[in-house]
Amino acid sequence: MSIKSFQFYRTFVPKLRGLSDPVVLSFDNTTFAKAYAHDRACTPHHFIHSGNFFSQPYAKKPELRTRERVLLLQEKLISERTDGLMTLNVPANGDFTTPYWNNAEADRLKAIETSLEAALWARENAQRPDLLYAGFEVGTYRDALHIFERALNADLTKLSAGFGLFSRLAKFRTEDRLRQFEVLSAYRQLSREFAETQFHASGGSALNVLELLAYANVTSADGSSAVIAGLAYGSVLTAQGRLVRANRLNEWACNCTFCAGHRPRDALIELKRSPEARVRHNVHILRLSEARINDALANNTLTELTEQRLTQYDNKALWKCFATLNEKPAQE
Ligand SMILES: [Zn+2]
Repeated sequence: MSIKSFQFYRTFVPKLRGLSDPVVLSFDNTTFAKAYAHDRACTPHHFIHSGNFFSQPYAKKPELRTRERVLLLQEKLISERTDGLMTLNVPANGDFTTPYWNNAEADRLKAIETSLEAALWARENAQRPDLLYAGFEVGTYRDALHIFERALNADLTKLSAGFGLFSRLAKFRTEDRLRQFEVLSAYRQLSREFAETQFHASGGSALNVLELLAYANVTSADGSSAVIAGLAYGSVLTAQGRLVRANRLNEWACNCTFCAGHRPRDALIELKRSPEARVRHNVHILRLSEARINDALANNTLTELTEQRLTQYDNKALWKCFATLNEKPAQE
């Protein structure tokens, strides 16, 4: 059996030229090709998402986000650096204030069945069916076990799910993450039976969950926090997985590729001054984590690494997610 690896895709932002690490794009992206038009050799590897149903224009006009339109626009973006396409993940309803687990079971099942139909349709109609990841919006262990097993039995060997939607609302944040790892626990179980599968976890992928994702046998993930934190919130990632406002820092010691190119005092001045510098530092920290995870996967030491990093992160909720991955959650 081949050794699995773990790949992180950060959110693509046009102005970060020169950074050619892997990125995630929405199916309707119009700026990616332009950003590398003058230097195609620098085009990053990328994963093409089926778009955020909770953002505009799709929250108001869901008819713009059909399985046909998603695939059509994704195919316009395909190049030799495209690693995957996520098929249409359908939400239980248009009310994005009620978390999945509080929706009626019939509504939840209808949504994931519609997502499965979209993935099967895409396989029949795609120019590159080998790139497809069957996408789901699923929020409970039992729903995940049910739909992932059906997909795998239909020979859809690449799966994907959207996470983190309800982490935007403070009152649901902790439970949303726990539910994410219940869903991934269902996948982790199935991935032992269906050995050659791959899983892309979309969203809900902050620095301090990357080890847990790999531990769940997730093969790739995407997240925006490193980019958004640096650009919009003025924050930098620490090696302990925390986001700290750069303008509150008095000292700085970092060996990442960006910071190591400056004297520590100058690196700190740059991080306080420049949003782009913060993103570059944050991206390097993510890539260091990713490299450490791949090293552990190759050496079969991922359990040790995960426990070691969770000790550093010092976050009870993350230990609970780890426990969830190690035991079968109670059936609801
Ligand atoms: Zn740094």
